[in-house]
Amino acid sequence: MGKLYFRYGAMGSSKTANALMVRYNYIEKGQNAIILKPKIENRDGEATVKSRMGLEAECIFVEDFLEEVENEWFTGKSDAWDKLDCVIVDEAQFLTEKQVDLLALVVDKYDLPVICYGLRTDFTSHLFTGSKRLMEIANYIEEVPTVCWCGRRAHFNARVCNGKIVRDGEQIMMGGNESYVSVCRRHFLSGEVMGERERDIQ
Ligand SMILES: [Zn+2]
Repeated sequence: MGKLYFRYGAMGSSKTANALMVRYNYIEKGQNAIILKPKIENRDGEATVKSRMGLEAECIFVEDFLEEVENEWFTGKSDAWDKLDCVIVDEAQFLTEKQVDLLALVVDKYDLPVICYGLRTDFTSHLFTGSKRLMEIANYIEEVPTVCWCGRRAHFNARVCNGKIVRDGEQIMMGGNESYVSVCRRHFLSGEVMGERERDIQ
């Protein structure tokens, strides 16, 4: 049955690897699953999703997918999407509210599972637009866990420059993963973004 899922996690919680594994599981069973990502997420500059573990796959831009879906609704012609069994979305925090609403329509109209992976909050600890809308309308909201250097659950994405936490700036900065450290709330608020061992390594 079609349901809209939001699986959120901090940086480094293997969301992309999860997304790729879910796709693989569908394909292994002879089913068809595609991966989408928003165009704004241009860290790779191309239509691929890459996990930090080294897994990667081709993807389709959300904008292109939704344009085709909308065209199809208006023209009444089917059926490229009828052959789909699952839609997976990476970097879902960057979706617009309208894009999330359209993905929900895809779920309901085509009875398809749409599984969105993304960050919950930005480096100032506020919800991203896409994540906020997903929190509002998803059927299932699930955490992809990861831990702070202290061992507590990490829910915050600290932006870091020269080992120090940064609290001001643009919401989206494509500096790559090395600009962010996932930490617990205690260490997000205190600004201690790494333990002594990590500092020694640097
Ligand atoms: Zn901590």
